[in-house]
Amino acid sequence: MEEKGNQNCPLCNTPTSFIFYDYHQIKIFSCSKCKMFVISNKIEKRLNSIDQHWKNQLSKASCETGQGNVLNIYEGPDGSNIPIQTSIEPRSNWI
Ligand SMILES: [Zn+2]
Repeated sequence: MEEKGNQNCPLCNTPTSFIFYDYHQIKIFSCSKCKMFVISNKIEKRLNSIDQHWKNQLSKASCETGQGNVLNIYEGPDGSNIPIQTSIEPRSNWI
């Protein structure tokens, strides 16, 4: 069963909707501004404490993934100096 919810986008703060994935560990957002992106709960919490400038970069990256793709936003390995990493993945990996 698909579980959905509504909240403000963690990147741009626009009211948006999401689908839960992987037993609520991950959300797939469909934002009118940032388009579709995938984000883990861990990273979503981390975004609360990062500068809006970085969120704008992530939003832009999500917009630019191209047709049929999504931006996956996930945590780097423990101790990494790049705590937030991204990759462009086919949408069909997720939905
Ligand atoms: Zn957004």
